[in-house]
Amino acid sequence: MKTSRAAVITEHNKPLTIQDVPIPDLEPGALLVKITCSTLCGTDVHRWHGPLGGSDTLPIITGHEPCGIVQEINGKRNDILGQPVKPGDRIVWSYVACGSCYYCSVAVQPCICPDRASWGHNRADQFPFLLGSVSEYMYVPPPCLIIKVPDNVSSPSAAASACAYRTIMHGFDRLGAVKAHETILIQGSGPLGSFAAAVAKDHGAREVLMIGAPAQRLAVAKRMGADQVLNMEDEPDPKKRRQLVRDHTGGRGADIVIQVANNAAVPEGLTMLRGGGRYLHIGAGGKASIPVESMPQQMDFLHVRSAEPRHWLQAIDFLSTRQNRFPFDDMISKSYKLEDINIAMEDMDKYRVVKAAIAFS
Ligand SMILES: [Zn+2]
Ligand SMILES: [Zn+2]
Repeated sequence: MKTSRAAVITEHNKPLTIQDVPIPDLEPGALLVKITCSTLCGTDVHRWHGPLGGSDTLPIITGHEPCGIVQEINGKRNDILGQPVKPGDRIVWSYVACGSCYYCSVAVQPCICPDRASWGHNRADQFPFLLGSVSEYMYVPPPCLIIKVPDNVSSPSAAASACAYRTIMHGFDRLGAVKAHETILIQGSGPLGSFAAAVAKDHGAREVLMIGAPAQRLAVAKRMGADQVLNMEDEPDPKKRRQLVRDHTGGRGADIVIQVANNAAVPEGLTMLRGGGRYLHIGAGGKASIPVESMPQQMDFLHVRSAEPRHWLQAIDFLSTRQNRFPFDDMISKSYKLEDINIAMEDMDKYRVVKAAIAFS
């Protein structure tokens, strides 16, 4: 039997092990992809520390941000734009919603389909085995939509589009048009925050402000389009942070606030939003309560979970067509070999890197 070397979580908080996982036979319409790069995400670190949502059982192959080259296809497949997919194509691919439940078919909100498939939490000892991205090979189930990666997009950036960047595209989809007079505040300076800064500038925001930490992440965010950054480590007083936002917005607060930190940032973010503004809630994890009585009047509260297949395409397209304007590869701070997965997870866990990439040769 052919196998794929993969980074497997066999016990929470214990070092991952490199195992030989079976490469399965392909169902009709399925693909086998040789991974070129898998980036790591905060969620992978959370899943290493313990089950998310209580349903994950071990062993799992870690990682859900893959980019790879098609090795084999069982039958004929087209990409999301209707072009034939061939062995040798470099691709990313979307998650799959069931297509027939209330959320998929009536509400048309497939991101909250209860039967949606996603990667990085599937058992490595059950068919089709290879649904985690820190692996030499991955299995692409038949219903996934396929997006080809243009030559001018690096594999690490394409991999990061499979989670962080496509979620930001979904967020801007929900926000609607950004008007030329609008100031956007971003809470959080990780890859989602930096990518959001680039999209906000591209969409014509008047000014992009960011509150985050540490300094190295804020430096990347500035190159990605943030006009003003505030390091939370330098300014522990929330009142002073609020004042900075007011100083830049005629005393009103931001027209749009994008939260890509965690739930705990929401109460403060709401104090920085103007009446009638739009609050985009993306970052998960942590806990907070919202004082409803002090929420800005007539505000919109928009929640975003994951993304729809078109957002994968939008993220890849943005990386390809705006790369003379934004240094996307600066968001990937370090590349590691598969054997160094535990160092990479540690570095992500301790916020030593913005985004870690596992590179396969
Ligand atoms: Zn992710
Ligand atoms: Zn569904």
